[in-house]
Amino acid sequence: MNLIDGKVVSETVYADLDRRVAALKGRGLNPGLAVILVGDNPASMSYVAGKEKTCRRLGIHSKKIDLPASTGEASLLKIVGELNTDRSIHGILVQSPLPKGLSETRIFAAIDPAKDVDGFHPVNVGNLVLEQKGFVSCTPLGIVRMLEHYKIPVEGKHAVVIGRSHIVGKPMALLLMQKSKSGNATVTVCHSKSENLKEICETADILIAAIGRAGFVTADFVKKGAVVVDVGINRVSDASREKGYRLVGDVDFDKVKEIASWITPVPGGVGLMTQAMLMSNLVDAAEQAAEKTGK
Ligand code: NAD
Repeated sequence: MNLIDGKVVSETVYADLDRRVAALKGRGLNPGLAVILVGDNPASMSYVAGKEKTCRRLGIHSKKIDLPASTGEASLLKIVGELNTDRSIHGILVQSPLPKGLSETRIFAAIDPAKDVDGFHPVNVGNLVLEQKGFVSCTPLGIVRMLEHYKIPVEGKHAVVIGRSHIVGKPMALLLMQKSKSGNATVTVCHSKSENLKEICETADILIAAIGRAGFVTADFVKKGAVVVDVGINRVSDASREKGYRLVGDVDFDKVKEIASWITPVPGGVGLMTQAMLMSNLVDAAEQAAEKTGK
């Protein structure tokens, strides 16, 4: 088994971003990220704190907007509208999930596609489908980057994606089937209504689990020598930890690592790449803004 190490790969992304951020600052432009957090979901609070820390590390301006869970859609749309025209902000992120009563679809669609560093706006989703330039959801983008880094062949392979969410499963499937060096896979997408899930997974050369169920993918799902990518982040109780829980993936790592040729750990895998690709999308957005303004 070989480890697909998110720390190693994300550091290569940050090294490149350090250079590009310095170049932008030299042209008088400091990239800026706005993060809107509505409510007090503990996992969301921790993700947002991680994003702010990464901005600080890269010397990128970040603006956090904390809003109560009772915030109405009109107020949130107004804030998004203001950020769309704020020239110090190049990326806008509305932390998902939003509290009940707020439509993620409407909120994401209100973000200027040129500042949509999460890649959730319909224009960017459409560009991904059409294989045109645009922002792509950070988690699948990070997975592709990891496969590229370790020169893991994708072309012609059977990739099985478990999960069909807008932010992971669907864009992942689209990237893997793209006509590109890191795509050209034969892709099967499975979900909660799929029949014979285990049998389908057993035929995967590349198995990507994005389900949200701790240890769901057991060794009997995995073909010998398969590449296994674990997207899941699940909290399981653990009295031995100070926080009272630990994070585990969707894959039974200890058993599956005995069968897989390559595998991502949780933590230390896909999650680190998601953060890195968010910053990469932000720097792309800032560079595009610099071009537009002639900086
Ligand atoms: P989601 O809840 O939107 O989607 C889960 C998908 O799993 C659905 O499409 C559903 O059909 C499928 N599913 C559920 N039960 C199933 C079953 N029994 N058999 C087959 N398919 C089943 O979740 P999501 O946003 O796509 O996230 C999935 C997991 O990845 C979660 O644990 C989430 O926390 C994690 N996540 C991690 C990162 C990261 O950076 N590592 C980023 C995003 C999400």
